[in-house]
Amino acid sequence: MSNSVQTNGETLVFTCAGAAYSGQASNQAGVQLHREKFGNLFCIAAIAADRPEKMERARNAGTRIAIDGCEDHCCKIVLEKAGLPVDVHVAATDLGIEKKPETPRMAEDSARIADEVKRSLTV
Ligand code: SF4
Repeated sequence: MSNSVQTNGETLVFTCAGAAYSGQASNQAGVQLHREKFGNLFCIAAIAADRPEKMERARNAGTRIAIDGCEDHCCKIVLEKAGLPVDVHVAATDLGIEKKPETPRMAEDSARIADEVKRSLTV
């Protein structure tokens, strides 16, 4: 878990939301985790844009989850460059999900990503 000074216990879920299929699947996984109340889906673009209110909420979070579509790890890098350590990181391609599959299976793949995040939260 994060060592932030003023944590409020909130869990925030960031996704790269990349244009690739695996980036979109990652965002769907974030939506699923939000719906299932594992954390609040939050704007990675607002962190990249250094929006003050969003930065404060992200700084105060107790747990930050980053979900990336591929090995470029853009979501994780944006957070770390902003001085926001990542507590749980999952990349879709590490689960064997292709960036541009011939046969996309969005529901199954996004659920797999969400399951990996849940597993990582409990270890
Ligand atoms: S991690 Fe991969 S899929 Fe996500 S934004 Fe970066 S390049 Fe695109």
